[in-house]
Amino acid sequence: MSWWMEESIRMIQTNLRETDAAMDPVGLMDDLDALSANVLMVNAGGIFAFYPSELEHQYVTPFLQNDLVGTLTELAHRRGKRIIVRFDFSKAHESLFERHPEWFYRTREGRAVNYRGIMHTCVNGHYQQKVSLEIIGEVLARYPVDGIFFNMFGYQHWDYSGNHYGPCCCGNCRRRFREMYGRDLEDYDENGGTLQREYAEFCERTTREMLRNIRDFVKKDHPHVAISTYHTEGVDLVRSESNTSLKRPLPKWLYAASENVASVEGGWDDKRSSCCSINAVDLPYRFTGVSVHETEIRLYEALAQGSVLDFCIIGTFPDYPDASNLPAVRRIFRFQQENESVFNDLNPIADVLLVKPESGAARGEYSGLFKILKEKHILFEVVARERLIPRLEKEKRARVLLLPGIGRLTERERGLLERKQRAGLRIAATGGALAEDAESLRALFGIRELKRLPDAESAYFEADGEGLAGIPEGRRWIVAPGPCWAAVSEPDVVGRLRGIEAATFGPPERAYGHARSEAFDAVSIRRSGAGSGVYYGWQPGEWYGRYGWQDHKEAFAALLEDGLDGGWTLKSDAPPSVEAFLHRVGDGDLLLQCLNLSGFDGMTYHEALPIGPLTFTIGSDVLPRADKRQAAGAPGIPTGTRLYEASSLMSGKAASVRRTAEGLSVTLERLERYEAMRIREAPSE
Ligand SMILES: [Zn+2]
Repeated sequence: MSWWMEESIRMIQTNLRETDAAMDPVGLMDDLDALSANVLMVNAGGIFAFYPSELEHQYVTPFLQNDLVGTLTELAHRRGKRIIVRFDFSKAHESLFERHPEWFYRTREGRAVNYRGIMHTCVNGHYQQKVSLEIIGEVLARYPVDGIFFNMFGYQHWDYSGNHYGPCCCGNCRRRFREMYGRDLEDYDENGGTLQREYAEFCERTTREMLRNIRDFVKKDHPHVAISTYHTEGVDLVRSESNTSLKRPLPKWLYAASENVASVEGGWDDKRSSCCSINAVDLPYRFTGVSVHETEIRLYEALAQGSVLDFCIIGTFPDYPDASNLPAVRRIFRFQQENESVFNDLNPIADVLLVKPESGAARGEYSGLFKILKEKHILFEVVARERLIPRLEKEKRARVLLLPGIGRLTERERGLLERKQRAGLRIAATGGALAEDAESLRALFGIRELKRLPDAESAYFEADGEGLAGIPEGRRWIVAPGPCWAAVSEPDVVGRLRGIEAATFGPPERAYGHARSEAFDAVSIRRSGAGSGVYYGWQPGEWYGRYGWQDHKEAFAALLEDGLDGGWTLKSDAPPSVEAFLHRVGDGDLLLQCLNLSGFDGMTYHEALPIGPLTFTIGSDVLPRADKRQAAGAPGIPTGTRLYEASSLMSGKAASVRRTAEGLSVTLERLERYEAMRIREAPSE
């Protein structure tokens, strides 16, 4: 297997400025040692070369004194570290534009983009198509590096100041677009014209094609070089970032690192996620980091999933005017290093597969469900939409498949889902999912027709009499701000959460007239073989993410679990601000991890408030094999023998474990920021 799949990775990226070309390489290695980092990511080429390139079209920074890439590669390997070199082909020095203006991005008016002497190139130009391969080839021929990374791969429609330039209308893009779609790119209309969808598809297809070309080129002679960028096509280490920006709309996304990691690790067996904790507050403020509490959460969320630890600063450590987060980075990196055998062999245990939609429009629904599952401590994995078939085909354990706002299924996907459903899978859809896919609605949910209801303020769902856990005693109605979809269903479909129709709401004298709907149930449930279909005709994720009302979370979760044999694998009295993870270590012990997110108030990341005691009950079916020996009445195991023990990887202290009718109950007396409990068979006494 490849090194990036097998090894623990603790990566530091020093995002060099060209003035850093004269840095002290030995000093950098000492800094990496002090942080327990075992992988360095550092600039090599593209905009500026940090090595003495001999290629005609690779601009070498005049600040280069020696061969920085060569020296760092040799030093890193001598100290037992890997090195991944960074390229940025999205832009090039303006001197290249003077010689080859046809390689560069153009606006519809034919203007190129020059940002501080660095100019946007184009995916379809000769520079990205061919020169990039020459530069990669030169670096791989000279230096035995372990990986290559591309910054900002693909089309650059924005500059660093946030100015938007629209589609690239260079000669190559216009020609290729006409060949692929038979239309002129100049007709692109920013206001939602038909070319928008086609242009997005054009960008995706040509980007994927270029990534495949790079992969073929690199792997032919260098199969052990990892390829990394912010895409999945042909990539080994899928990079993402947990970062902040002053211009990003609220709310802040507490699960940024968790989600970045989960959305890769759940879909591919041959790729690894590398979610970089960007220290800087924003691009214009690269020299001050986010709070240490936010940094800890990001790194622990990656650690807990057995993923790569990845941290980035600009420039080099001696110059960098903010060392405040480094002790936390050092502590978490070292913890992973000391427990490599555990974190390198984690296999998630999941009850639910949450499908991540391709469409940006459904992302709010998806991320709201992600938040609900986390807060309810329901064990789940994320499956990227394009990986639905391979993942479902090999899935043996998960009992629920969640489709948030998924537009349409292919015939093959529908067939597979029907088979899995008959075999016992519960399939749940939310947020107007499959509204345009009548066949799937009928096959999976028994819905003959789905109608989008007119948006109406002041409508409700009737919770009264549903007996839904989590809805406060005495509350009869739940607000339903819309949009909603009403199903006309087969007779064997059961409706839940009857709609309460909108009425006038002001002035108070006129606030009456709500009637129980005759035709709209917010949830439709149908049994199908050993499984079932649960269709939510509303947006539990979007509404919970946007408004934060507990009712939406609780009603969604209660109906998802309703009638599920034995309930969820992990049950806990922990508050929603505890993020829980349960993995199998190899094929034996269990690892229960808890991350305390309580310091986050929606805007600021404060210190976590200690919480405890917390109890987690783990279902019998996932316990290590001791229980089976007892259940089978194996000889030599007297009744009452302590079969399991739990101990902290942080402190080595034992935690109290107790066998209950539901499984194994583990009590954690006090949770500070993070805890990891290894649960194993007790040695026989
Ligand atoms: Zn172009």
